[in-house]
Amino acid sequence: MSDDARGMPRPWRDVLAPGFTTRFAPSPTGRLHMGHVVNAVWVWGLARAHGGRVLLRIEDHDRGRCRPEHERAILDDMDWLGLVPDGISTADLRAGASPQRQSDDLSRYATRLGALERAGLAYPCVCSRSAIAGASPANDAGRELRYPGTCRDRGIDPSATPARRIRFEDGPVESFVDLRLGACAQSPSEQCGDLLARDRGGDFTYQFAVGVDDLVQGIDLVIRGEDLLESTGRQIRLAPALGAATPPRFLHHPLVRHADGSKLSKSAGDSGVRELRESGWTREAVLGRAAQLGGLPHDGAALSLQQWVDLFGDDLSARG
Ligand code: GLU
Repeated sequence: MSDDARGMPRPWRDVLAPGFTTRFAPSPTGRLHMGHVVNAVWVWGLARAHGGRVLLRIEDHDRGRCRPEHERAILDDMDWLGLVPDGISTADLRAGASPQRQSDDLSRYATRLGALERAGLAYPCVCSRSAIAGASPANDAGRELRYPGTCRDRGIDPSATPARRIRFEDGPVESFVDLRLGACAQSPSEQCGDLLARDRGGDFTYQFAVGVDDLVQGIDLVIRGEDLLESTGRQIRLAPALGAATPPRFLHHPLVRHADGSKLSKSAGDSGVRELRESGWTREAVLGRAAQLGGLPHDGAALSLQQWVDLFGDDLSARG
């Protein structure tokens, strides 16, 4: 279901203009698991039902945790599930063609970060995590650390560290309408303070890389799990600094959880697609289970392509 700013349901077809571009963006830190499949059911379901395009992006900005063998396994499981992205053929992917992969072209991040630095919007930061934790006693344990701006005006020598932060001025609240959750408001300067764009190891961060990629790939609808909802305000704040005329729109879907309600671990290999394949599940059975786990109005039975598309139709009675 989609909601307008007042929380009123609106038909998908009024919200999604044909030709919109969304993306599937797995991180190759492990194999394809049910959490990815839930995301894929939403991404390809909405795209197929409403004339959208799905671009593939391999999010391997975290060089320490990503592995080429995981990427190959993810592409193979996607192929088995019939998850065909636009813009690159399955045959090419099978033959080893490169999908859009973050590590293939780090210059697109470096160029934009350099421009922000020259404009005085990004600055070097030498703070360690423990220094930030020590300077932010107001943060509750377990919550995200808010950077207090220690290095903002210290004029740190750029050669002292690769780490860079982007200024997030205090105050403004980012308001947006999530296509499923309705009106949301977040205050990035309260949540995280000045945004880390590149870390002390020289890796571009998730937040910065995704902001650049969504702009470069022309993504106008981001469909992802609710675990990333807290990132959205800061990605909206980042978009104009990167040169976007408008930020993408967002839809956050329910997460797969264990029966006890705990979140499914992304890297622990829970409910891996490979294991399900090997134990005799069909692709329709896996997709049907994912549709149910992902909060769609479906009983978990094997899902045909037509049923899948119908889940995202505009029959209000059929929507959860
Ligand atoms: N790469 C992230 C993941 O695998 C998705 C990030 C996003 O959708 O913004 O969970």
